[in-house]
Amino acid sequence: MESKEYIEIEEKYGAHNYHPLDVVIERGEGVWVFDVEGNKYLDCLSAYSALNQGHVHPKILDAMIEQAKKVTLTSRAFRNQQLPLFYKELSEMTGYEMSLPMNSGAEAVETAIKLARKWAYKTKEIPYYESEIIVADGNFHGRTITIISFSTEEYYKKEFGPFTPGFITVKYGDLKSLESAITPNTAAIMLEPIQGEGGVIIPPKGYLQSVVNLCQQNNILFIADEIQTGLGRTGKLFACQHENVRPDMMIIGKALSGGFYPVSAVLADREIMGLFQPGEHGSTFGGNPLGAAVARAALNVIRDEKLIERAEELGNYFIEELKKISSKHVKEVRGRGLLIGVELKPEAGGARRFCEVLKRKGILAKETHDNVIRFAPPLIISKEILDWALPIIEETLLMD
Ligand SMILES: *Cc1c(COP(=O)(O)O)cnc(C)c1O
Repeated sequence: MESKEYIEIEEKYGAHNYHPLDVVIERGEGVWVFDVEGNKYLDCLSAYSALNQGHVHPKILDAMIEQAKKVTLTSRAFRNQQLPLFYKELSEMTGYEMSLPMNSGAEAVETAIKLARKWAYKTKEIPYYESEIIVADGNFHGRTITIISFSTEEYYKKEFGPFTPGFITVKYGDLKSLESAITPNTAAIMLEPIQGEGGVIIPPKGYLQSVVNLCQQNNILFIADEIQTGLGRTGKLFACQHENVRPDMMIIGKALSGGFYPVSAVLADREIMGLFQPGEHGSTFGGNPLGAAVARAALNVIRDEKLIERAEELGNYFIEELKKISSKHVKEVRGRGLLIGVELKPEAGGARRFCEVLKRKGILAKETHDNVIRFAPPLIISKEILDWALPIIEETLLMD
């Protein structure tokens, strides 16, 4: 069957909650994907950074197959052999004492919110149900009702109320706005250290450090959503480390399984994570042995193949080279590691049309917000492949 037919079937039978580029991918290998016609593309989205290790990484594949042959799901009603090792290795790699595994990123965000509220009542002793969590405008934390309740994107929430109360929105990157939102009932501040979906927005230097100082002065938890920025993407294990910040709670997902299987987690020290009591939170699939085995392998690949160092080195190179392109359409090139946004001027006619042209030339990138092209290839990419891609990107940005 040809791409066209697959697309027709998808449009007919599937919900239209996405607007994908019309490429029907059959196979992926490393940084490359192949469509049903056999065309080859460089993946510059990496499934929103879930594929830091590249497509179908052989070591993660082996771990998945080996575990799938043994046992895939026990539920947390019983224990399994993989989960303890996953906990231990995750702790050793991240420096957090404990973790709680879930599946999707949104579930991990929900988990962090529950834990922050529990901490507010049990530890900070905020009166019941008066706790508040401060978030930033332009945030993206997922798609559940509670999470869209504090989205500032009209389109994400307009038709989906009523909403969950208890969230206060401040201006991202603006310390004054944050300071004036703090009350005695503030339990936590939750931020992305770089807003990925928001358009690769990097806050001013020193912002995260100042946020943490404010949190410490006011007995407030700092929660970082590093589902997209974490696990090497920005050239550090966590993007917060660019400012030497260690959040009280860290939310990870996406690349935690190298794209094989949804695995997410909340990380925290015992003082906080220890607050959950049996029965207060759970997930049928969260912490299952297949997911745990896959995640262990995915973490090993990040370490063994020095993906964090690669992201830093190649990211700096990619950003520098992109900055050299003098296109009338480009407003700004910004990024950290291999999370890069090329913001176009409003009169450029939107990022989508450039992504369509890039696709025809063998590069898959996706617009985020109308005017930003995001480049976030798998971290296993090489300088040679970047040198192949750069002239194509240049040519595309130079078109009318
Ligand atoms: C992708 C993402 C999420 C949501 O993860 P899902 O697995 O899609 O639920 C949350 N926060 C950030 C920063 C993300 O990039």
